[in-house]
Amino acid sequence: MSRAIQPVRETFLPFARPSMSLAEERAVVESLRSGWLSTGPKVSEFEARFAEHIGARHAIGLNSCTAGLHLSLLLHGVGPRDEVITSPITFASTANVIVHAGALPVFAEVDKRTFNLDPEDVERRITPATRAIIVVHFAGMPCPLAEFEELCGRHGISLIEDAAHAAGSAYEGRPVGARGNLTSFSFYATKNMTTGEGGMLVLNDDELADRARVLRLHGLSLDAWNRYGNSGYRHWDIIEAGFKYNMTDLQAALGLQQLAKLAEFNARRAEIAARYDSAFADIPGIRPLSHAVPPRWLHPHHLYVLLTIPETLGFTRDEMMDRIQRAKVGVGVHFRAVHLHPYYRQTYGFHPGGLPVAEGVGDNVLSIPLFPAMSGQDVEDVITAVYQAADRGRR
Ligand SMILES: *Cc1c(COP(=O)(O)O)cnc(C)c1O
Repeated sequence: MSRAIQPVRETFLPFARPSMSLAEERAVVESLRSGWLSTGPKVSEFEARFAEHIGARHAIGLNSCTAGLHLSLLLHGVGPRDEVITSPITFASTANVIVHAGALPVFAEVDKRTFNLDPEDVERRITPATRAIIVVHFAGMPCPLAEFEELCGRHGISLIEDAAHAAGSAYEGRPVGARGNLTSFSFYATKNMTTGEGGMLVLNDDELADRARVLRLHGLSLDAWNRYGNSGYRHWDIIEAGFKYNMTDLQAALGLQQLAKLAEFNARRAEIAARYDSAFADIPGIRPLSHAVPPRWLHPHHLYVLLTIPETLGFTRDEMMDRIQRAKVGVGVHFRAVHLHPYYRQTYGFHPGGLPVAEGVGDNVLSIPLFPAMSGQDVEDVITAVYQAADRGRR
């Protein structure tokens, strides 16, 4: 018999909450008082710091990671009649930008250990029309980049990295983004560091970087800071039909503070993840996604993912989520398989059965709260809520 679900705490614990301190407040006020509300000196400073942090030549401040992914496709010349392969276990934007570029989205299988794209399955889906692959570092776990680079080199196609989860990740001793592939980070409110909304495109190629800077601001030949600076009046020209993708100084002021604390944030995330690992090592019906990485890699613990096994639990993932929420603990899903969402089914005719591993992941994953501002008691409350939901006594 299933016991009734009881709240495990008085107040609802949200799935995520940003860590903002007096330093962020001061930085934003200082930025407001400077008079530069749009793209100005703070954006340049944040870009320089971020590029330095990654070890890349260029970091370009944007209003989202989505904008970075879209620009990456355009910079690589992706357009109509091209195919782009990506993961179905990702957020909407990774696939939507392929549609925005006019190309055909092709979804490949994920590795069942990491939920990252499986290079062998990707290779099977390459056709003469394939122009690019967008890999997603799921939860911040780096993809096997050397394998993807080798594969892309052999087929003459471009590699793009969705690093929305990967602030603070390292692959073979260097930060994700350092290898020169066009790489986009997200500073959305729930991410490991946040500017409220915001993103950064990181790359090494000087020409592509110049073009990205033009495309992010309407295709104008100079950015606003140069236009209104004190070096004499200069006309701007429209040299491309660009976009409104620029980052603001207010966002950059936040970003500079958050970047300085990223390592500390991620260390706290790792502590919480380790506590969850020991608590969930052997609950029947639930398997935590592994975040074990080789010695020279870093996992930033963007998410803590549980894979439910409905046959053992006796109920579905959705029921499990409902039970945890009723105990006053927030949950999330990262992610239901993108190709099975209505738009993708209706537009491209995708249907269940095509990608069994990814579809199994999409049907059975849930994410529990993992953010640096959680107290020790918050963490214990989550554990109690999961045990109760799984209908198991707490050890
Ligand atoms: C959050 C997220 C994005 C989009 O980031 P925005 O900055 O909100 O555009 C892209 N990909 C993945 C995997 C994400 O989780």
